[in-house]
Amino acid sequence: MLALPNSASSPAGWRWTPVNTGSRSATSSPPSVPRVLPDIERWLRMCSPTCRSRRQAVGKDILTGLAGESGTGVRLATGIDVSNSDHDPPDWFALIPDVRRCAPDELPPGYRNGHHYTVPLIDMPTHLAYLARRLELAGGDITIGRVDSFGDASRLAPVIINCTGLGARALVDDREVFPIRGQHVVVRNPGLTDFVEVDTGDSLDLIAIYPHGDRVVFGGTADPHVWSRYPDPVATTKILERCSRVEPRLKDVEVLEVRVGLRPTRSAIRLTAELGPAGAVIVHNYGHGGAGVSLSWGCAASVAELVERGVSI
Ligand SMILES: Cc1cc2nc3c(=O)[nH]c(=O)nc-3n(C[C@H](O)[C@H](O)[C@H](O)COP(=O)(O)OP(=O)(O)OC[C@H]3O[C@@H](n4cnc5c(N)ncnc54)[C@H](O)[C@@H]3O)c2cc1C
Repeated sequence: MLALPNSASSPAGWRWTPVNTGSRSATSSPPSVPRVLPDIERWLRMCSPTCRSRRQAVGKDILTGLAGESGTGVRLATGIDVSNSDHDPPDWFALIPDVRRCAPDELPPGYRNGHHYTVPLIDMPTHLAYLARRLELAGGDITIGRVDSFGDASRLAPVIINCTGLGARALVDDREVFPIRGQHVVVRNPGLTDFVEVDTGDSLDLIAIYPHGDRVVFGGTADPHVWSRYPDPVATTKILERCSRVEPRLKDVEVLEVRVGLRPTRSAIRLTAELGPAGAVIVHNYGHGGAGVSLSWGCAASVAELVERGVSI
């Protein structure tokens, strides 16, 4: 596994769902996704099945393709997204060919409606290791170290992609970036195959259950402006209680691990280019909140485009 220090990507980020991203029902408005939506809509358009450009393969399509290869950490998973409220289906359902309403016997006790569909589900430790291998096979080297200024970085490379997430607060003094803390519990899989996502309304206590092979990752929480990376035992107990009410097979399971991550959130994703020291091209790409995995390939395509085009400011 590629263990990145202080990263949101290592401990979390599981499911392709652009407006939901593992934190809310398909039909609600999540706190962990940047609130200013034009960027999100642009990345969504990039994933659209009707898109005819080279971006056709971006986003969901790429993850769907990776699900067919072994060792990528991506699989196509079926599951349900359930709610007690009546909402219009979100726009991104248009990207999912097999979405359908749940039959009553598919709903957990106490829930009135839901949808059943298939999306890429991503085991992040495996996926990050796959991405690192892929980069190395393409001729890249990975050196892990702290960058304190773009002056330092420009001595190493003429193009700098700034994907520092919350680190952008210090590196580029961007006070708009803030954490939304998330906590997940990892247990041995008692036999689950399908994901479950529950609409918890405005509550910061989320319910999402993701089976990943012999483990199940579930939670969670969404605490804005909380910086602690330490597991909160009270939150763990509550996660176990509310998730096992929805999926009784999670009752009394052995907890293997508790994971905490800070979603690097911003009112809008910053994806811009500028000229830096010594003529270096700097492309900023951070602030993806709870949607960074879903948006990763779409945003990467935009970054590549900015680098190819060069900076004109
Ligand atoms: C609990 C939880 C659940 C989530 N679920 C989903 C989901 O279901 N679907 C989804 O799409 N997304 C999900 N996300 C969000 C997703 O994980 C993030 O949006 C994504 O990982 C952000 O990636 P990033 O590379 O921008 O930031 P990070 O992964 O945080 O990476 C930033 C990296 O930059 C490094 N860095 C910072 N400053 C410096 C510096 N000065 N010098 C050198 N290095 C530096 C950091 O150490 C870190 O390694 C979830 C997040 C959490 C916490």
